[in-house]
Amino acid sequence: MLWVLEELLMIEPDLPADEVSRLAALHELFLLDTPPDPYVDALLRIAKSAFGVRGVLVSLIDSERQWYKSRIGILSLEGPRSTSFCGHVILSDELMVVNDALQDVRFADNPMVVGPPEVRFYAGMPLHAPDGSRIGTFCLNDPQPHTLTDEQMQLMKDFAKLIEGLFAAHQLRFEKQGLLEALGHAERRALIDPLTQLWNRQALQQISPSWHRRAVRDSLQVGFIYGDLDFFKRINDEHGHGIGDDVLVQVGQRLTAAIRPDDVAFRLGGEELGVLALVESQTELVAIAERVRKAFCDSEFVVDGQRLAVTISLGTAIGSDPLADDIDDLVERADAALYAAKGNGRNRVENG
Ligand code: GH3
Ligand code: MG
Ligand code: MG
Repeated sequence: MLWVLEELLMIEPDLPADEVSRLAALHELFLLDTPPDPYVDALLRIAKSAFGVRGVLVSLIDSERQWYKSRIGILSLEGPRSTSFCGHVILSDELMVVNDALQDVRFADNPMVVGPPEVRFYAGMPLHAPDGSRIGTFCLNDPQPHTLTDEQMQLMKDFAKLIEGLFAAHQLRFEKQGLLEALGHAERRALIDPLTQLWNRQALQQISPSWHRRAVRDSLQVGFIYGDLDFFKRINDEHGHGIGDDVLVQVGQRLTAAIRPDDVAFRLGGEELGVLALVESQTELVAIAERVRKAFCDSEFVVDGQRLAVTISLGTAIGSDPLADDIDDLVERADAALYAAKGNGRNRVENG
């Protein structure tokens, strides 16, 4: 019968015996549906360079999906668990290496092998929660077949160990921010932009009241930075929308790395970004905005081997009355300052 030939022969990953407690351990870490972690992102860039592969991921295995806490070389933030390589990796404590997926019955007709991103080589090392549960993987992929040397296999294990250490620090920071840990990951999912992994505009409305309360408590001021990429339409026009999307993923990572650990970054829409910060003065806020500006213009973005210069204009505004909890007014004033930054030549910071 012909229809049998149409069926996928690939093998779906089994569920681990400890699936229920494993998921509980994963959800407790506040990793799912949270913004980029600049420390994990930095390690992934080092890994990409060390292994010379196209894709590097930190993939967390949720009940039905894999969600990427950090990613290089892939645009989507999540994919189905059923067709994932990583779902297989978390079934043991061993490094799993697939030198050529077309030669492996488990993966030969996997949609990610026969279609984009056309994975041929895959290597994945399980990542553990503090209780020992296997919650996800550190993994590499490439469109060409590869083998790993013994030294590289050891390096995979070292990277995994470092990432597990960074997870603990991430959890502490997230809790300290006291923002959204009351929300479950399903609720957070609606507040995270699926391209840049930054909080969206709706999240700004949810977060800002607690930010004002903290400002009053700590005698600080709420500051807002409004950023807009300069001439971004040109990137799309000259290189295509896909490359533009890839730049935006890196924009989210670069912005998160440039601000202080307690500041919060947003994608307000399109190529518009925001930062919410508690500061003592306008000078402190401007220093953060300047750091962001420099982080963009200091080095080019690299996508598929192409080098692209992307700059950002920024406007800042500070809450005039700490007791007035009006985020919309603050955003409006920062936006007006941004408008002035555009008019005054772009790649600059203006204060509202
Ligand atoms: P300006 O310096 O005045 O801000 O110039 P600009 O080209 O950045 O401004 P404009 O508002 O004309 O264009 C913004 C561009 O951002 C147009 C749009 O295609 C692009 N953009 C917005 N969202 C996305 C996205 O999700 N992906 C991609 N690839 N491009 C996007
Ligand atoms: Mg714009
Ligand atoms: Mg723009």
